[in-house]
Amino acid sequence: MGLEELSIECSKCLKCGLSNGRTHIAFGRGNESANLMFIGEGPGEQEDLQGQPFVGPAGKLLDLLFRAQGIKNEDYYIANIVKCRPPNNRVPTDEEANECMAYLRQQVAIIKPRIIVCLGATAMKHIIDRDAKISRIRGDWIERKGCSIMPTFHPAALLRDSSKKPLMWQDIKKVKQRLDEMCQKVRD
Ligand code: URA
Repeated sequence: MGLEELSIECSKCLKCGLSNGRTHIAFGRGNESANLMFIGEGPGEQEDLQGQPFVGPAGKLLDLLFRAQGIKNEDYYIANIVKCRPPNNRVPTDEEANECMAYLRQQVAIIKPRIIVCLGATAMKHIIDRDAKISRIRGDWIERKGCSIMPTFHPAALLRDSSKKPLMWQDIKKVKQRLDEMCQKVRD
């Protein structure tokens, strides 16, 4: 199954209660054969309306950060732990996340990214370590099955607390360096 078919299947999903409130799923966007994948928490209001992840205020901040670091649209794919908007943007429950992780696992299996960046504690918890603290492990690389995984802050956290901006800047810089090294190796 390709991403297109998977997204159609996901748009009909009734596996959890989040489906009751959705306008659209926000399945994923970007380069489907990118080496780099970002994973957030779940759609907010704009994402639910437009059917695309990270198109609201947090996404706009992320775009600025990527542009400043030289990460182009074609360099990455971006998706979320849950594809339907949780009511009032609450954190998805473990049950909701577990149901929806099946779609994310298939997205990762199709895209085969070499670098995964977890944006925020929810993505970190479901992908890396449910008991870790984002403020402790952000910016660290974790190597797993040939993939380098890094947790960093969620861009919405930067909108609430601008003191986190330089830290996320450092993390995204490391991501860009790793991506460049990887592309250089492929060329050599
Ligand atoms: N926050 C997320 O985690 N994902 C989005 O798509 C938008 C905001």
